[in-house]
Amino acid sequence: MYRIAIISYHTSPLAPLGGAETGGLNVYVRELAGELAERGHHVDVFTRRTDSTSPGTLPISDGGSPLGRVVQIAAGPQRYEEKNTLPEYVDEFADGVADFVAAEGTKYDIIHSHYWLSGLAAEQLKARWDVPHIVMFHTLGEVKARARVSESEPEPRIAAETDIARNADRIVVASKDEQQLLARYYGADVGRISVVPCGVNLGLFQPIEKEEARQKLGLSEDDKILLFVGRIEPLKGVDILLGAAAQLESESDCFVLVVGGDDSTRDGEMEHLRDLASQLGIAERVSFMGAVDHERLPLFYNAADVCVVPSFYESFGLVALEAMACGTPVVASRVGGLSVAVRDSETGYLIPWRCPEPFAERLELLLGNEELRNRFGQAAREEVERFRWGNVAEAVLGLYAEVIDGTPSKTTAVFRN
Ligand code: UDP
Repeated sequence: MYRIAIISYHTSPLAPLGGAETGGLNVYVRELAGELAERGHHVDVFTRRTDSTSPGTLPISDGGSPLGRVVQIAAGPQRYEEKNTLPEYVDEFADGVADFVAAEGTKYDIIHSHYWLSGLAAEQLKARWDVPHIVMFHTLGEVKARARVSESEPEPRIAAETDIARNADRIVVASKDEQQLLARYYGADVGRISVVPCGVNLGLFQPIEKEEARQKLGLSEDDKILLFVGRIEPLKGVDILLGAAAQLESESDCFVLVVGGDDSTRDGEMEHLRDLASQLGIAERVSFMGAVDHERLPLFYNAADVCVVPSFYESFGLVALEAMACGTPVVASRVGGLSVAVRDSETGYLIPWRCPEPFAERLELLLGNEELRNRFGQAAREEVERFRWGNVAEAVLGLYAEVIDGTPSKTTAVFRN
């Protein structure tokens, strides 16, 4: 059994989802930590404290294994802070983690960090504790900046990612695409980059009758519904979906539900999207639902005819897997992990261009053909079975064994990359 220190500095696995900075990474850390703890490993997830009242340590899941904890470490103001201020408190955070661990007397076998800021803290802890460090970046500054003209990332981020990629004992990526990007833009050694796809909670995300889901959400049974779920930011390409919806010939009975976004939503992107819907003349057919509780999302995926993931950049795209697990076909950009999750013309469509027209064409095809939607939806559910979180945890444990004991990994065969 391993003692595992997971570093999730900038956001807690227990934070509410769908805000500007909470999404796939939070779900990933929570699910992985839970699965590892269920398998008898001792898992501590260290995160920056963003309030002064909650307990210092919390269980990773209610009723789950007591071996999984979230440990909140004070570093900087004990409140939500914009991500661009967070590099300032990384050293204080690493010191805080080291003090906490020294006081408890724990010795970890491995550090597993998530995102570059956590990677910075983890490199400091690796030097102090002399244990291996596995990093998962989730997104890369350089790739983000290249994905959409409006994106720019601070210079220190890219320099830090380069250093971490060079020094970490192993880098975990969710797709081969990202492995190549790390090698190309960061000069990372491909031999130290392991591909482990992301997972989906098959117990939570399950098919139910569309009528039932729509009734529960108060939606009409007759309309066609396109669904977007995710953080509201330009890289997610919601503008492409709106543009495509406006071009559909069958547009009069087609509605778009946009799930995600809260008060912290970045740079007025929500306002921009509302204006765009008005300019396109479809404002009355687009509903901005705001963030929805993760546990309630299966109703939305089941109510939808198609889930659309029009991202400019997506390191994996959990939303695609969640929709598929509910038996809903996905039309997604052919980018990053989305090309792993979606099988083109079998469980949905992959679109190589970032513009509305090709999305509209595929959506038209699917919306006009119930038989095709059902076939894709059924194949989608079958396809995602192998992406269960348990398989992800087994693959990650295989990597831990490789890095800690030098045992060759044999676990990733369940995944086609
Ligand atoms: N999510 C949620 N409620 C929302 C919006 C998103 O629970 O209102 C969850 C969604 O179910 C998914 C995650 O946030 O698990 C988004 O992950 P994804 O990998 O698609 O995008 P990322 O946030 O990593 O860019």
